[in-house]
Amino acid sequence: MQYDVSKIWHRLPSDIISKIEHCVAAGCEQKSHRGDAYVFFRADDIAVPGKNFTHLLEIFSQYRVPLCLAVVPAWLTQPRWLALKRAGQNAASRWCWHQHGWRHINHEITGKKQEFGAGRTRADFEHDIDCGRQRLESLLGQSFYPVFTPPWNRCDQKALEVLKHLGYAAVSRSRGSRRPSSKSLPNFDVNVDLHTRKEKTPAAGWNNLFDELQQAIASGRCGIMIHHQRMNEAAFDFLAILLMTLARSKKLRLVHFKDL
Ligand SMILES: [Zn+2]
Repeated sequence: MQYDVSKIWHRLPSDIISKIEHCVAAGCEQKSHRGDAYVFFRADDIAVPGKNFTHLLEIFSQYRVPLCLAVVPAWLTQPRWLALKRAGQNAASRWCWHQHGWRHINHEITGKKQEFGAGRTRADFEHDIDCGRQRLESLLGQSFYPVFTPPWNRCDQKALEVLKHLGYAAVSRSRGSRRPSSKSLPNFDVNVDLHTRKEKTPAAGWNNLFDELQQAIASGRCGIMIHHQRMNEAAFDFLAILLMTLARSKKLRLVHFKDL
């Protein structure tokens, strides 16, 4: 499959290090009177091992930052899982492997793409979510953690009810998900998008990305979404600088889903 690279990753601004430092410091400054801010990273569409995946885990290992990995159950096989696990074996406790839908296919005829959208029944959802969970539990064993990231970051209310019924620990969508989940099913939403940005110009993309990052840190809960298939060298360079800056900050707590 051919993945698009967002315009901002064609070239990093020359003063990228100071831009990131300034953005993180400004977010912390806005937040400082209300205690620490939590930061987590969530990498989506995980299942197929490869160069980018290995490089991603190397960078997170280098800066000792935890990472939530959203695995597509239907794409995963035993050999693939063994290769993914091998890439992260130096720090197994750093990774939070969880569920990303079932087959990652769109079932909606109109409107935004969804695997668990309004056009399907609760019984469909129960079947698919349970199939996905069983597959991940059987392949990943103890490494599986029951958090659900719906493909395209959105799902119908019925899916939230099914997740609650099946005993999931949380759901992870994007900021501004239309339907908040209930208290017994916490939201671990992402509010910063690194690699599926749609801005027409790099300048607009950078402005929006830094706004998102600063506001997310200031809110006290910063969830950063990664799509490793869409990362080029500039995107990896940026990630390394970001991880280094975040890890150095005394006001931030870098966590994964199990810590939230
Ligand atoms: Zn996805």
